[in-house]
Amino acid sequence: MDDETRLIRAGSLPDKLAKTVGPPIQKGSTVLLPDAEALYDDHSQVTYGRQGLAAQAALADALAEMEGAVGVALYPSGLAAVTGALLAVLKAGDQILVADTVYRPTRRFCDTVLKRFGVSTAYFDPRQAPEELVARAPEATRLIMMESPGSLSFEMQDMTRTAELARARNILTAADNTWGAGYLYKPLEHGVDLSIQALTKYVGGHSDIFMGSAAARDPGLVRALDDGVVQTGWSVSPEDAYQMLRGLRTLPTRLAKHGESGLAVARWLAERPEVAAVIHPALPGASDHELWARDFTGACGLFAFALKPGPTAAVNAFLDELTLFGLGFSWGGFESLAISCDHQLRSRKFRRDYGGPLIRLHIGLEDPKDLIADLANALSVYAGRTR
Ligand SMILES: *Cc1c(COP(=O)(O)O)cnc(C)c1O
Repeated sequence: MDDETRLIRAGSLPDKLAKTVGPPIQKGSTVLLPDAEALYDDHSQVTYGRQGLAAQAALADALAEMEGAVGVALYPSGLAAVTGALLAVLKAGDQILVADTVYRPTRRFCDTVLKRFGVSTAYFDPRQAPEELVARAPEATRLIMMESPGSLSFEMQDMTRTAELARARNILTAADNTWGAGYLYKPLEHGVDLSIQALTKYVGGHSDIFMGSAAARDPGLVRALDDGVVQTGWSVSPEDAYQMLRGLRTLPTRLAKHGESGLAVARWLAERPEVAAVIHPALPGASDHELWARDFTGACGLFAFALKPGPTAAVNAFLDELTLFGLGFSWGGFESLAISCDHQLRSRKFRRDYGGPLIRLHIGLEDPKDLIADLANALSVYAGRTR
């Protein structure tokens, strides 16, 4: 054969791969099939690389193991997991009930894309009793979308009871469980039908990869998720899947530290004169503490607190004074972050007075003593600007 041909044939996948601790990062669009029959008639074969070769399959298996799922679908971002799971089970004419405290882009998707395709959305107060919520759900209700604790303000919902009641009315339930990371809370074990999370956050753990997952136990729902991914063409790269799996290995160890440091900072903040309220469901005495304690096995490092009332300029001065907390969205990485929340809270239907400007903190893996010193300094600046 000529060099041109030999270069095409050389260096192909060996029959046997050396066994490493993690899966191979197998890259490929084309999958070579063993014989002509396998092209169309052998459904046990992977026939195309879009939905996952070794690394993606290993990640999906590991997530299924953690969540107690029968199947897990992977998406290129957490938001894509939310939208992909909703599109997989909804059709024109359906209605969905969505917690008012959901991640804001979830709301944007409901109000734009779902609306355009004839699915209507009604928002509910996360504090509404599940009995009332389910009893009042209109006939067209197909799904209840929950997020507990909710984004930014961390209201808890009784997802277990909601799922139980919804099931009796043939309504599906879905949880955006990014806070629980599929580890601190396992929606499927509490009867929720669809467990969704942004792996971007704690599973990735280093603020550098996007990915999301949706998990289910019911074989019909697993098939619907898989079909949805195939039909819409979602795909995640093998490198990203490999990195996610690497993050998953240390998730419990990292979460324990995030949770412990988060509570240490929350307890300290609760004693400060500049602080009106600390909103952390794992804090004993918090309004949602009992619900959290019943269903969750731990806390992550994300919570909020309200400053005593003060002007926006003082809130910004507080944030700008912080040196160990980056100012940025997303969370779940090794580093601490802070944002102001009031701007985002304006899109809510059920507004609540938290006692003053709301700040969300992500507590990273730094020593909490250093973080507390940083916060103390910034709070004194805030006090000076509000006096
Ligand atoms: C960040 C986040 C998402 C979206 O994840 P991306 O990977 O950033 O798209 C979804 N839900 C919640 C609760 C989040 O915090």
